[in-house]
Amino acid sequence: MSDCLFCKIAAGEIPAQKLYEDDDVIAFWDISPAAPKHFLIVPKKHRINLSDLSEEDDRLIGKMMRVSAQVAEENGIEKGYRTIINNGADAGQVIFHLHMHVLGGRPMGWPPG
Ligand code: C5P
Repeated sequence: MSDCLFCKIAAGEIPAQKLYEDDDVIAFWDISPAAPKHFLIVPKKHRINLSDLSEEDDRLIGKMMRVSAQVAEENGIEKGYRTIINNGADAGQVIFHLHMHVLGGRPMGWPPG
């Protein structure tokens, strides 16, 4: 999508502090971190959120989960981190391109806010 911020980051048109990239996904540090370590896993394909997925995306979602663990380990938070998808405006989604938050480096409370 031409006016989507995360599509532009995925295409390299807008800079981000990249941690991982392959043909399907990109991971980068969140610009406004909510924990000492906070990065995002973003599919390169434009999908609005989980509600926009179809069966053909199953592999992609699996990769997002696996890459989250890999990047967490590479950045020293493998002992504990939280993965979050804010799915829809009522859940706090503000960027309408699917992304998974990965937060670590501090104790996590439950339930989340
Ligand atoms: O899940 P939600 O849509 O609320 O999260 C969007 C996230 O994208 C925020 O944590 C925000 O800090 C991050 N962001 C970013 N780089 C940008 C714009 C937003 O990391 N250029």
